[in-house]
Amino acid sequence: TVAVVLFTSDLRLHDHPPLRAAQRAADEVVPLFVLDPGIAAAGFDAPNRQAFLADCLADLDEGLRERGGRLVVRSGPVVREVAAVVAESGAREVHIAAGVTGYAHRREEALRAELDGMGVALHVHDTVITAVAPGAVTPTGSDHYAVFTPYLRRWSQERLRPAGGAPRAVRVPDAVRGKRLPARSAVKGVSPALPQGGETAGRHRFLSWKRSGLDSYEDMHDDLAGDGTSRLSPYLHFGALSPVELVERARAHGGPGADAFVRQLCWRDFHHQVLAARPDASSGDYRTRHDRWRRTDEAREEIEAWREGRTGYPVVDAAMRQLRHEGWMHNRARLLVASFLTKTLYVDWRVGAAHFLDLLVDGDVVNNQLNWQWVAGTGTDTRPHRVLNPVVQGKRFDPRGAYVRRWVPELRGVDDRFVHEPWRMSEGERAAVDYPEPLVDLADGLARFRHARGRD
Ligand code: FAD
Repeated sequence: TVAVVLFTSDLRLHDHPPLRAAQRAADEVVPLFVLDPGIAAAGFDAPNRQAFLADCLADLDEGLRERGGRLVVRSGPVVREVAAVVAESGAREVHIAAGVTGYAHRREEALRAELDGMGVALHVHDTVITAVAPGAVTPTGSDHYAVFTPYLRRWSQERLRPAGGAPRAVRVPDAVRGKRLPARSAVKGVSPALPQGGETAGRHRFLSWKRSGLDSYEDMHDDLAGDGTSRLSPYLHFGALSPVELVERARAHGGPGADAFVRQLCWRDFHHQVLAARPDASSGDYRTRHDRWRRTDEAREEIEAWREGRTGYPVVDAAMRQLRHEGWMHNRARLLVASFLTKTLYVDWRVGAAHFLDLLVDGDVVNNQLNWQWVAGTGTDTRPHRVLNPVVQGKRFDPRGAYVRRWVPELRGVDDRFVHEPWRMSEGERAAVDYPEPLVDLADGLARFRHARGRD
């Protein structure tokens, strides 16, 4: 007997319940990945993610080959390709991880309808993409938690299934043919310092960070220059690492650093359960605040300066340049550049979210859109009117200006006292530095935001 495992956002061999169930049910399995043109058509095929995906697929294929199998990659509409592989292999069942986005739901429904017609069973597995399944815990009277802290409390009490290992052997039927794997080297426009993708690289990163960074995570996670966070987000985005396994291993490690790390993983699940309940929040406001954002054409130059990292606010510019160079940005930096765009410039969060999705290697509609909404105050933040001041934030989270100097070389030689406020230097000192004047006055931005939100 044969079963098909459709890999989606779960590109790994360790702790993979759909693969395990398929192997238990059948003698042979087809590990299948479909390059669906629908993803490109929707504009979600940013070069950085394409390149990282190519690494993930190559690594998955290698892992399967070491176990006697291989990855079957097809390209075309996903339902058509799954049906074709089912027909070619004579499979009786298909296994897939439950998805969260509208796209994933539509895919699941269409697959179910198609496979029903062929007399083939579709098995959908929870807790593959998140540690706790969306909807598994709900507050009284609602289908999801809208506030993080009560969710965290309830989430922490959930018993997770034990994380599984990787299979020892995988037998793939000869009859099914795939196409060549996509190559990272063929992708154009990739950020120069994009990390290596794949489960092997992800496990290596996790193990080395567990040894060197986990214990200090609580103290270091907001230190921009210290770069003390795990950098596991791209591996989690592609499912090269299992969130269940990470929570389990961090809890086994114990201590305040591990607690703080698990709390961040809970944020990830939190956003997933919000979007699962409110799929429209990927483009529309989660909480309608009737914002009349500035017209994009009116703010075009400011938006461009923000995108390119030349706003004249050093920490904002450093962060935006890091994003372009690495395809990744520190969380504290994401918070303050998003606050700057939506509150100081009063530009629609969707403009910023789209730019992030063009570049972020971990960019996903769940975490990106809902974090943007959180910062913009249209989302789940319980203090939607808070505004992060880039000078105060810079001094607090980059006190010596090392992060700024790393990414904004024009300010390398500037004294610590002025590195977050170069406009305070003497005229002569300023003339010697090729760095723009502030794009807006922070007080003016604040006044406009308060006025727009009706809080002046
Ligand atoms: P760590 O600090 O090591 O945290 C561990 C893991 O916890 C992360 O890998 C991530 O999976 C999860 N996590 C941490 N913080 C959050 C959070 N606020 N929301 C959800 N999950 C979190 N994260 C994405 O994965 N994809 C995105 O597209 C994305 N867009 C964002 C946009 C904005 C405006 C903001 C403010 C945050 C965004 N985040 C996004 C969340 C967060 O910034 C990143 O997950 C984090 O910076 C990744 O770095 P790390 O792996 O070193 O995180």
